[in-house]
Amino acid sequence: MRFHNTLTRKIEDFVPLDKVVQLYHCGPTVYNYAHIGNLRSYVFADVLRRTLEYSGLEVKQVINITDIGHLTSDADSGDDKMVKGLKRENLPLTLDGLKQLADKFEAAFKEDLKHLNIETPHHFPRATEYLKDEIELVKILEEKGFGYKLSDGIYFDTLRLKDYGKLGGLTPLDESQARVGIEGKRSSRDFVLWKLSHDDRLGFESPWGKGFPGWHIECSAMSRTLLGQPFDIHTGGIDHIPVHHNNEIAQSEAAFDKPLAHYWLHNEFITVSSEKMAKSEDNFITLSTLIDKNISPLAYRYFLLQSHYRTPTSFTWESLEAAENAYKRLMLIMRLLNQQAPSDPGKVSEKYKQMFTEAIENDLNTPEALAVVWKMSRSAGDDISYADTRATLLDFDRVLGLKLNEYVPEVKEIPKEVMILLDERAEARRSKDFKKSDEIRDKIRRLGFEVNDTHKGQEISRI
Ligand code: AMP
Ligand code: ZN
Repeated sequence: MRFHNTLTRKIEDFVPLDKVVQLYHCGPTVYNYAHIGNLRSYVFADVLRRTLEYSGLEVKQVINITDIGHLTSDADSGDDKMVKGLKRENLPLTLDGLKQLADKFEAAFKEDLKHLNIETPHHFPRATEYLKDEIELVKILEEKGFGYKLSDGIYFDTLRLKDYGKLGGLTPLDESQARVGIEGKRSSRDFVLWKLSHDDRLGFESPWGKGFPGWHIECSAMSRTLLGQPFDIHTGGIDHIPVHHNNEIAQSEAAFDKPLAHYWLHNEFITVSSEKMAKSEDNFITLSTLIDKNISPLAYRYFLLQSHYRTPTSFTWESLEAAENAYKRLMLIMRLLNQQAPSDPGKVSEKYKQMFTEAIENDLNTPEALAVVWKMSRSAGDDISYADTRATLLDFDRVLGLKLNEYVPEVKEIPKEVMILLDERAEARRSKDFKKSDEIRDKIRRLGFEVNDTHKGQEISRI
């Protein structure tokens, strides 16, 4: 198995550290709903987990929940995003208000994961439940001389760490830029470890006074407590590379003199009109928007699988519709396979499994894996039996997670409207008017049925 490691900028063979492969994925800041761009990060993480499991490895997976400490800029300026959320939702600026806000959006996030058939991680730690570990880590950094105090908090001294920024993505600073930022900072790249509260109601007790942990220290502390250090694979969106992940590495490695994680994998963005989809922009599309439009979240999962996770992907309603049609066709194929071989369980094809595995284990090449799905489906009844095609598709679905076993079984009752269109279509085909016959097929599709032309004539099934 091979992955692209951001740390070395190379595709590398994956060698697990131990028997259980440990994964940490930076989770959402729960001040708002996730948009479908954010959800790409978790579908990608899910495909990674499923691929490791498919190859026979055991996995322990963590997705954290950030419920304080993430400022509107990933560096240290602006409001805390959670405080922004409290104001928007008219919730009290208290710890209780904070909990209500986090509960609401954490539940919504978990619902999104369920809709996308993302396996539940083994841990969903909340930053505010790991304060002891976060404070402990800041204390270690202070004792080792990496922390310094300013009026608004404890900062990490990036100039003290020789290889600060080794994950890359940082633009060089000239002398004047290096000094810009919060007054007293030794470098503008220094970041907060513990932020002192302006507002006492939102602070937690600490040796430095009431406040809250920095966003980066939360991930360093939670991953260490739940997975240890080093662990195998850390993931996130590419926006996390320059600041958040460089800072996680800096803190954890400065504190314990060993690597934080061995492999760093990053997904590219979902864009709209060439712009990154973002919570602050007006291109914010949630999974509920898709569900309201009667589009299955699994059609969006299919849409994501069509492109490699390291390719920026432009979202348009037309491209989503094309993915939805392909997904529906795949479900239809499952139904037809079942009709052809209702009682034979079949067996997994070694030939196609090998092709599929090669694709997916090559840095999670899901477009290539889907190409294998279609190649095999086209050969069904030819060089592979119907029953074996079905068994192999269900085996691939352990990685794809498209719920291919949940196709709607054949329906007996066909509405009159559809019957009339079927007659018209049969007539069009008899008179070789294929343009009209295709138009009628589209009309029938819009009514929720698919027509297939077989040697016995037109066969109809529900989409
Ligand atoms: P946040 O809740 O803002 O911390 O983001 C959650 C995850 O979504 C992070 O891994 C981000 O890197 C990722 N992300 C944010 N915007 C996008 C986008 N437009 N496309 C793909 N991933 C994104
Ligand atoms: Zn993180």
